[in-house]
Amino acid sequence: MKPQKQTLAVDMDNVLVRPKEIEPGKNDNAYAGVALLSGCKDVLAKLNRKYDLYIVTNFLWKDHQDFIGDNLKNKYEYLISQLPFITPSQLIFTCHKNNMEFDIRIDDNPDNLEQGKIKLLFDSPKNQSAHPEDLLRSRIIRVSNWREIDKILV
Ligand SMILES: [Mg+2]
Repeated sequence: MKPQKQTLAVDMDNVLVRPKEIEPGKNDNAYAGVALLSGCKDVLAKLNRKYDLYIVTNFLWKDHQDFIGDNLKNKYEYLISQLPFITPSQLIFTCHKNNMEFDIRIDDNPDNLEQGKIKLLFDSPKNQSAHPEDLLRSRIIRVSNWREIDKILV
């Protein structure tokens, strides 16, 4: 029997891609024309071979309740088109990331890194207030780009 691969949960927003601001009536798709973050695709392809990888993303944006269905569809279509090596069964759309168990997590929100053996906080303007000592206590490692993720996980 093959040894089981470790499970890896990768967040979408502000980890794979920085979504645009939704403006109802003008711009309803936060991902239209937005490129993946630098290095993300290559590293993710390697991680996909080494780990049991899932993209775990919150589709329910509180400020845009009217667009939940569209947002889910836009996220799905973006991920499938941008990451051809990822299958639909690797996509998890949820609002409860901490209710699931993964060995390794990558997220830009420290609140989504409660569990896991390896926890990587992807640097973003929103998480600058996370104190280094608190991160250390929670065994969270801050990473600033996909090259650093490559070094740690591949
Ligand atoms: Mg995020």
